[in-house]
Amino acid sequence: MATIITDDCISCGACEPECPNEAISEGDEYFVINPDLCTECVGFYGNEACQQVCPTEACVPDEDRRESEDTLFARAKALHADKEFGELDAETSRFRNPDAINPIS
Ligand code: SF4
Ligand code: SF4
Repeated sequence: MATIITDDCISCGACEPECPNEAISEGDEYFVINPDLCTECVGFYGNEACQQVCPTEACVPDEDRRESEDTLFARAKALHADKEFGELDAETSRFRNPDAINPIS
């Protein structure tokens, strides 16, 4: 389930540099996320980095694009072929974070 930016976005730009995958860009109406690059920050952070800095909480799970932690982690590895990923834990996967800002449903 990639993250999606809702129309609550005020185009402040705070999220764009926080994404480990450069998945965020400015769209026609507001900022947008490329779902092929979004890993919900699995492999990097225990929360979506975009949502953590968003002043309007506009970065939410896309319920129409549900993906497993395995799928998202595989994507992170493919996008960062030169990076050594350790075991996933609460610090590196929202799926394992009991205090996730967007709880797993
Ligand atoms: S959830 Fe993470 S990987 Fe996805 S767009 Fe936001 S910052 Fe980037
Ligand atoms: S941080 Fe939130 S309000 Fe700012 S550009 Fe990103 S999604 Fe939009």
